[in-house]
Amino acid sequence: KFITIEGPDGAGKSTQVKKLSEHLKTIGYKVLTTREPGGTLLGERLREVLLSTEGESPVPEAEALIYAASRAQLVKKVIEPALQEGFIVICDRFVDSSLAYQGWARGLGITEIANINSWFLKDTWPDLTIILDIDPQQAFLRMQSKKDRLESESLEFHKKVREGFLKVQDMYPKRVKIVDASAKPEEVFENLLFEIEKSGIIKT
Ligand code: C5P
Repeated sequence: KFITIEGPDGAGKSTQVKKLSEHLKTIGYKVLTTREPGGTLLGERLREVLLSTEGESPVPEAEALIYAASRAQLVKKVIEPALQEGFIVICDRFVDSSLAYQGWARGLGITEIANINSWFLKDTWPDLTIILDIDPQQAFLRMQSKKDRLESESLEFHKKVREGFLKVQDMYPKRVKIVDASAKPEEVFENLLFEIEKSGIIKT
């Protein structure tokens, strides 16, 4: 089974991914966690290109395609083989980040970005996606110290990203669930587990 954890910067994705992975391992599952952009050697190089504050920034269309390239590499090299070997794969960000950031916040169109990604994802869409939802202002406070190119985008941009994630949930209501990420990590994790249990894809 393939689970993705999504949400804006500062929502606490990496903390929840870690908690989920540890929990599932404790109860006996084989678990592989990975992240986007990155997760492969090529993907980590593309991540540097995307997040660097130096040099020429990609135009939105190029940005969307570089994220897609990183994802294609990750899907073919890591995710699909692991799923075939019976691992539960947990990915910190995946296609829905592209739909929210490039599709909605950058204005390229959610459907257009979904089409580009469908071309290589084929059947490897997540079985379940959890969006950690948080007020952009609160998220901003959580990550004042981080400063890559995108994390220093305006509050206005981050509001659009949140809007984008909510639209994505609207488009894929069965696959995508929203969890309130404003609470303490333990509480957020309980709600996240509850959504996984409800989805029926695995026992938690
Ligand atoms: O979650 P993580 O910190 O690894 O994300 C790296 C950066 O890439 C974040 O600042 C996020 O806003 C940005 N991003 C993006 N479009 C995506 C995925 C991530 O702008 N499709």
